[in-house]
Order: sequence, then structure tokens, then C-alpha cells
Amino acid sequence: MSGPRPVRAPRGTGLSALGWQQEAALRMLQNNLDPEVAEHPDKLVVYGGTGKAARDWRSFDAMVRTLRTLKQDETMLVQSGRPVGVMRTHEWAPRVLIANSNLVGDWANWEEFRRLEALGLTMYGQMTAGSWIYIGTQGILQGTYETFAAVAAKRFGGSLAGTITLTAGLGGMGGAQPLAVTMNDGVALCIDCDPRAIDRRIEHRYLDVRADSLEHALQLAVEARDARRPLSIGVLGNAAELVPQLLAMNAPIDIVTDQTSAHDPLAYLPIGVEFDDMASYAAEKPADFTVRARESMAKHVEAMVGFQDAGAEVFDYGNSIRGEAQLAGYARAFDFPGFVPAYIRPLFCEGKGPFRWAALSGDPKDIAATDRAILDLFPENESLARWIRMAGERVHFQGLPARICWLGYGERDRAGERFNDMVASGELSAPVVIGRDHLDCGSVASPYRETEAMLDGSDAIADWPLLNAMVNVASGASWVSLHHGGGVGMGRSIHAGQVTVADGTPLAGEKIRRVLTNDPGMGVIRHVDAGYDIAESVATDRGVRVPMREG
Ligand code: NAD
Repeated sequence: MSGPRPVRAPRGTGLSALGWQQEAALRMLQNNLDPEVAEHPDKLVVYGGTGKAARDWRSFDAMVRTLRTLKQDETMLVQSGRPVGVMRTHEWAPRVLIANSNLVGDWANWEEFRRLEALGLTMYGQMTAGSWIYIGTQGILQGTYETFAAVAAKRFGGSLAGTITLTAGLGGMGGAQPLAVTMNDGVALCIDCDPRAIDRRIEHRYLDVRADSLEHALQLAVEARDARRPLSIGVLGNAAELVPQLLAMNAPIDIVTDQTSAHDPLAYLPIGVEFDDMASYAAEKPADFTVRARESMAKHVEAMVGFQDAGAEVFDYGNSIRGEAQLAGYARAFDFPGFVPAYIRPLFCEGKGPFRWAALSGDPKDIAATDRAILDLFPENESLARWIRMAGERVHFQGLPARICWLGYGERDRAGERFNDMVASGELSAPVVIGRDHLDCGSVASPYRETEAMLDGSDAIADWPLLNAMVNVASGASWVSLHHGGGVGMGRSIHAGQVTVADGTPLAGEKIRRVLTNDPGMGVIRHVDAGYDIAESVATDRGVRVPMREG
């Protein structure tokens, strides 16, 4: 029987598969499980509570074996983290097709999912865990940086200097919050109940200091705020207790959000449970644990609403905590908005979203060269330039060196083609993979997050991510994935992803041009269809065809 062991992607130009498309999938699967990247690699868990890269170690081994022998006209099919078939296709077809965690509507709940998972029939793929394009905390750092920049622009004159942000959750995604706040010159007070999460973020320089107590944390925060000095502070404890305590103390908090694993009630620590007992209690008494976690989330959300009543900027950061609090009977749970309608939707209308790439060489110099290429391609975009420069200085690579930046329709294809040319000319020492988060402009239906409060009420229409996956298959992506439940949990989202390999060949260039045009194009047409003016003008200006506007 194969079992847990450390996994690390090979580096350099030597191939262990029959071509770079297959080699790229192989390295990215392995990279997702690199101990530098994954939260719990021994359990194949990459991030987001229980988001996995493979169903079990036997499936992982079978995927590695299959990818090594997969031909240029073959496609491996993956069903919830297990390779279930190899089909003869053609060279334009993806080398891997992935479907993760999908359940029929009426069965799409955690209880049924866990029953099937216990039988070994499925796994939770989150967004980029099961689709092998997770790049560590940097992936979310850019989005979080953009969000806090938008908060600053909306409420605080363009900077978070002199403000205090309160949040919880320093895990795989949430760990980006302290650095995103300090990059915007603010002070962040971050609660987590797991001491390792705090230590790990300090080690990676995403978090500055750890306070001894809540009082100490607040004192440090106020001092830094008064000096308009950026600082991030970690404090150990249960957010369901500490957030209400801070409210009761009239703590001078300006912004409140949360990134605990609230989407999965078995991953949120209930009040009165010791952190060390959490895993065994959740495993032994899941129903009991769920009730107590939801009651605690209700207290947490009630305090967030209290801060909003007191004048703070409060938003849900995509973890479904409002939905869980509502299930526990808290009536005002949805009094504060989700971050997408509040800050991100205008970007989605332009086809903007989390474009990312990783250097298969393993050489940080390749990323530095692509950084320079991005600065050269988009000289007019100042906030992009600021991000690329700061990321170059402050982001600690986890696993294969990678970069992310938000690019829109008409931009992603230009960047992708440039990277492919750089591979062809030898400016990059090996191919790069170009992918994105499933949290993108036209790839997800998620009524509590990406599609919350759509203009035409189409929040729960899930045809769009299906069309997105199909168009990426039809356009020549290297691997395409279609998942359920990522980010916000079972029954609450359907989403798709693509990764395309720039191996320097003319064929890769042709594929990149199509995929990186059509993929963000889905965001433009989705928002035109929902009636957004910005999307209409982007479609008109950049030539995106929308049949219902023609004739
Ligand atoms: P994670 O499991 O890696 O980390 C969650 C952290 O929350 C852990 O460190 C845990 O110790 C802590 N925690 C749990 N209960 C707590 C409590 N009661 N008090 C204090 N700390 C507690 O998860 P992650 O990958 O960081 O994701 C966090 C959440 O954000 C998930 O719900 C995820 O679905 C969501 N998410 C949001 C976005 C976005 O764009 N906004 C993207 C991806 C994921």
C-alpha cells in the first residue's frame, strides 16, 4: 500500500513524461502537495480546510504513473481525485480532464458528501487544490491586496494608513490578510485558534508579530495606527469569543472581515472546545460539532454586525460565515455584504481576474524575467506595477516559483503569448504553466460570493461555469476542471478552471491565444448578459461578440 511521504515536483528541463503538457500536469500535481505549499500534505490536503489534490495515495500514485506514459493524443480523466480512464483524443485536446466533488442538486449537501467521501467515492477539491494550480498563499495575496485597496479607495481616501482591520483565520488563504493590509499601509489584528498557523505566517513574513493577549494585541494595534505605521499582529484564540470581546471593549476597529474555514462547519472551532480536541470531536460527533460551530459562528457574525452598526466597514470574505450564522438562527446575518458585489464586480465586468503562472524550471530568475515582461507590456497600469514590484520584494515563494496578477480581457492573451515567446527564445529556462483561480470573472456560479446580488437576479444560474469549462476544452487548454462546492461549501457553488502550458512551440502559442482570449471573454459575456454597463462597453470597445446585441 502506498502511503504518506514528502512530495516535491522535479525542477529543470529533464522530462519524465512524454511531453511538456503532461510533464506540466505532473509537476503541478506534485507541487500542490509540496510541504512548502500544502497545509496538510500527509493527508493530501492543499488548502481550505479539506481541499485535496488526490483522493488517496493510491490514486496519487496512479495519476503520476499515468501522466508519465500519457501520449500527445491521449487524455486522462480524473473523477474526484482518482484517475478513472485514459481516452484517445487529439493534440489540441486537454491532456487531463477533471471533475471534482460534483453531486446532483438535491443531494448536494455536506451530509451526503461526507457519506460518499467515507465510502471512498469522492473528495473535496476546493478550487485550485483538485485542479493542481494552487501556488501557496501568494495566490490569494494579490486578490486580498486588491480587495483591501478597494476598501481603502471606497472609505479611507485611498490608503489604510491610520486604520485597524480586524479579521480571523490565518490558514492557507486567510494567511494573506495581514500582508495585504500592511501592503496597503494599514494595521491588521488577526485571530487564529491554531498556534502553528500564527507561527507559520510569521516564518513566511506574512505576519509581523504575535501578541501575548487580546489587550496586548489591541495596545500594539493602537500604537501603530497612531503612528500611521503598517503592522500586523497575530493573537491566539477563538474568534467567536474574541470578536465579541473586542466589540464589548469598544475597540477602535475600522474594518472587519473573516477568513476562518466557516464554509465547512467541521473546520470552525466552536466555543468551549479546545483546539487540540477539535479534530477528534469533529470526527466522532459531526452532527453535534456542526450545531455548536454554527451557534458560535452566529455569535461571531452578530459581533461583526455590531461593529457595522458602530460605523466600521464590514464584509464577508467568501467563506460563507453569514450563511452558517443564518442556519443557526441569527436573523441579521446578511446585514453586511460579500466582498464581490462590494468591491470586485466592476473588475469582473472587464474580464479581470486572478491570472497566474508558475516556472517549471524551479528557477526564481524565470519569474523575475516574466515580472519584467509584465511591467513592459502594461506600462500604463500603475497599481499592477506597484503589485509586481512589491511581490518581487516581499513574496516568499512556496514550491515552484510563481506569480499572480489580475489581468483582463485583451491582456491575458498578450501576456501568455509573450511568455511562450520567451520560452521559445531561451529567455526562460523551461516552460511555464499559465492558469488561474476558479474565483474568476466568468467561471463560477456562487450566490454567496462571486455571483452574489447579480443585477438580473441570476446568482444561482450554473450554466456559465459549465460553458466556461467547455469553451476552454474547445480552445486548447492543457487541463480543464469542473468542481462543486469550492470556497463556500457543498450546494453553494459550481466552478471551472483551466491551465495552459507555454512550452515555446507554435502550437502552444495558438492554444494560448484562444484560451486566454475566450476564458476571460466568458466574464465579459456573463456580465453583459446580466446587464452591466461596464461589460457592455468592454464588449463594444474590444470586439467581444454577443449575439443578442447584434442584428
Ligand atoms: P484553512 O483551513 O487553511 O484556515 C482556516 C483557519 O481558521 C485555520 O488556521 C483555523 O485554525 C482557523 N479557525 C477555525 N476556526 C476558528 C475559530 N473559531 N477562531 C479562530 N480561528 C479559527 O482555510 P483557508 O484556506 O485559509 O480558507 C479560509 C476560508 O476562506 C475558507 O472558508 C475558504 O473557503 C475561504 N476562501 C475565500 C476566498 C476568497 O477569495 N475570499 C478564496 C478561497 C477560500
